[in-house]
Order: sequence, then structure tokens, then C-alpha cells
Amino acid sequence: MTAVDTAAVHAGRDDLAGLGVHVPPIDLSTTNPLPSVADGGDAYETLATGNPLPAGGSAVYQRLWNPTVARFETALAQLEGTAEAVAFASGMAALTATVLAATRDGKRHVVAVRPLYGGTDHVLASGLLGTEVTWARADDVAAAIRPDTAVVVVETPANPTLDLVDIAALATAAGNVPLLVDNTVATPVLQQPARHGAALVLHSATKSIGGHGDVLAGVVACAPDWAARLRQVRAVTGAVLHPLGAYLLHRGLQTLPLRVRAQQAGAEKLAAWLAGHPAIERVHHPSRHDPAGLVGRQMSGGGSLLAFEVRGGAPAAATVAGACELITHAVSLGGVDTLIQHPASLTHRPVEDDAKPAGGLLRVSVGLEDPEDLRADLARALASI
Ligand SMILES: *Cc1c(COP(=O)(O)O)cnc(C)c1O
Repeated sequence: MTAVDTAAVHAGRDDLAGLGVHVPPIDLSTTNPLPSVADGGDAYETLATGNPLPAGGSAVYQRLWNPTVARFETALAQLEGTAEAVAFASGMAALTATVLAATRDGKRHVVAVRPLYGGTDHVLASGLLGTEVTWARADDVAAAIRPDTAVVVVETPANPTLDLVDIAALATAAGNVPLLVDNTVATPVLQQPARHGAALVLHSATKSIGGHGDVLAGVVACAPDWAARLRQVRAVTGAVLHPLGAYLLHRGLQTLPLRVRAQQAGAEKLAAWLAGHPAIERVHHPSRHDPAGLVGRQMSGGGSLLAFEVRGGAPAAATVAGACELITHAVSLGGVDTLIQHPASLTHRPVEDDAKPAGGLLRVSVGLEDPEDLRADLARALASI
């Protein structure tokens, strides 16, 4: 197995030398010449049913296949240790396609472990995709499975509390039911859920994979049978990733290991400092709370996302978010610059009250700034409570 740092730089680039180029070309064609009616029809059939493009075949139409997107998918799959990956227009498009693909055969029940990203929680709680959800603690997943359960959904570390779940134990509890792990927060640099039994590994590639706050995208890493189902849903529903975005994501992957480790080092320093601050009740980061000992076993490190609860609840949290100067008050995570936001008001606003994050909880996505400058900004903001 190629080391993650090497794969990040080289994966998905095997065809470049043959094309006589050193960086991936961006293929913007929405349509492609057809060699003949018969061959065009065959290619259409192949792609629309979710199969990969055969060598030398026509890509037909960008909603069915795009070479720039496919290179990014190849690279991401290699980093996650899966055979294939399928990219989408956003993380939520990826999640929606996964739920549709999993429920295709009429099974409509989903078991989900909270906390989840607010959008994921919302789409499952609302039943908008025709599913029925049972919320379960990780320990209760086996008991929640029914004959009509289509998929088990979990996020670890979870957004925004950074709770960790043992993926291998959960895969065992799920039995024959496919396990979907949202790996957005960890990234494949720190954790590769497929190696622990996850059938589907989902990313909001908008976050660390893109890493620079300029691409909205999602991707699911999985085995070929799942990839075919997902491509079929993608082709039919049209939630495709634009090739310009795919190019930027593929480029972003090259620095992903460096960015993740540097941002993680900053997050650990800040978490340690915040834990000793008198205005703070509790700090959430895997480096500070890992009861099952998953850091070092399932994850190689705690990652760049942290959260903390200020004394004084939501009003105090709002004051802190508004008082940051270097740190931008904004949603999203995983980028090169540090962001702070109040999940109960924003990313987790649609979550039902009994599962909403605490009012005093603020989430910080640590970027690449000098941690000392971030500490000074937070110190000033906390002093304004
Ligand atoms: C942002 C996010 C999503 C949704 O992704 P989008 O690209 O915003 O659609 C899903 N899961 C997690 C953990 C996220 O942080």
C-alpha cells in the first residue's frame, strides 16, 4: 500500500504522461462526439446504468461521465482504500444519492447515530427522501436494525461535539446492513473507515479535501457495486460535480496530509489552552476526550475541529463569536483559515430541540495560522463576555 502522503500527490494521475502533460487537463465538454449510432447507444446504456466508461468509449454527456471528475474520484478512492469513489455537487447531494441508492430495493428504514451534521440530521428526521429513521446510540444499533433497514449512518468524529464511535464495532452491530461513515471531519489522512468495515465513506469535500473554501462538493468512497448504484442515481438526478471543482479538489488532495497535520497540531494546542480558561466549561476534542481509546487505533490523530462550551450559555457564545477578529465568524470547516460558529443557531439549527448542541457551544475549525495568534484572538474574545 502506498503511503498516504505519496498517494495524495500522485493518485489519479496515471494517464497524464501518456497525454504528454504534467497536471490534469480540465475537460469542460458537456457533450462528446459519438462514433456511430450503435456505439453511442451502447455507451449511453453503459454509463446511464452506472458502469464506468470503457477504455476508448465515448463519454456521451457530462451528466454521465467526465474525465476530470473521474481522476479526482480515482485519487480519493486510493486515499480511502476503496476500489472506487463517486463525486457529487455537494456533501448533501452525496448523502441524498446514498440514501436513494440504499433504499432502491424498497427498504425504507434508516438507523442513525446522533450527533450528525445538521443537514444530515434534518434530511433523515424530515423523511423527505421517503425514509423512516430510528435514532440510536452506537451501543443500541444492533437492536434498532429491522428487516427493512437499508443503511446505518454515523459520523466520527461527530460534528460538532467531536464524539468518537468505534467503526469496527458498529460495522459488526450493523451485520449485513451497509454502514455509512461520514469521514468529513477526520479526512482519509487520519482515518480510513472502509478498513474498519464501513461500506460507504462519505465526505463533504467542501471542507478539508478542497481545503480553501472555494469548492462545494461531496464524494462517496465504496466498492464497485455501490459505485455503480451511486453513479446511476447521479446520472438520473443530475447532482454532478463540475469539472472545475473536481480539478481544484484533485489539486487540494496533494497538500491534504500536510494541511491536516498542521491544522491538527494547532487544534491540540488551542484545546489544551482553552481547557484551562476560566470562562470555559468544557472543551471537545479527541485529544481531550477519547474514552474508548480510538485515537491511535482507529484514527491517527484528533483532527483540526474543536468545540468548547462557554459559561453563560448562548448569549455568552454569541458575544465570543462576534468578538473574534482574526478568526472569521462563519460556518464550514477544514479550510486554511480559522472559522468559529455557533452550531445551535447555524449548522445544527434544524436539529430537534432534544438533540440540539448546547447553547454555550462554539465550534472552531482551526486553520494554518500561527496557533499563538489564534490563542490571542480567542483570549480577547473570551474577555469580552
Ligand atoms: C458540511 C457537511 C456536510 C454537508 O456537505 P455540503 O458540502 O455542505 O453539502 C455533511 N457532513 C458533514 C460532517 C459536514 O460538515
